[in-house]
Amino acid sequence: MMEHQERTEKIIARSFVEQVTEGTATVRDLSPSEILRSALKQLAIFWGAALFAVLIPILHFVLVPTFFGLGIYLFTRTMKAKSTLISGSVACPVCSEKIVISRQKQLRWPLEERCQKCQSRVTIGIS
Ligand SMILES: [Zn+2]
Repeated sequence: MMEHQERTEKIIARSFVEQVTEGTATVRDLSPSEILRSALKQLAIFWGAALFAVLIPILHFVLVPTFFGLGIYLFTRTMKAKSTLISGSVACPVCSEKIVISRQKQLRWPLEERCQKCQSRVTIGIS
């Protein structure tokens, strides 16, 4: 069950002024069946919405293909997500306040977070 193990990833945060700080994130790799399951669940929701939209007069011309296409788009996107971020924190590159990274069901680096103290937008990636 190696692929289900949590691991700690060294991360770096970068601000608009190019200062860099380091932090850590706890990441868990998803198994292929987990990825497929969440992708299919998402597809079912959007295609379900597409079926429901068939009943709405006029708007269904727009809504049905939109939900249908969006379902496929998100399905392929979810299939590409390899891991999930459980927790993480990094010091703000501007004011050094701790920034807690919100849980990411589908982890895709880099992440964008806003410092709660100085409102700086920071880009977080793997070091
Ligand atoms: Zn800050």
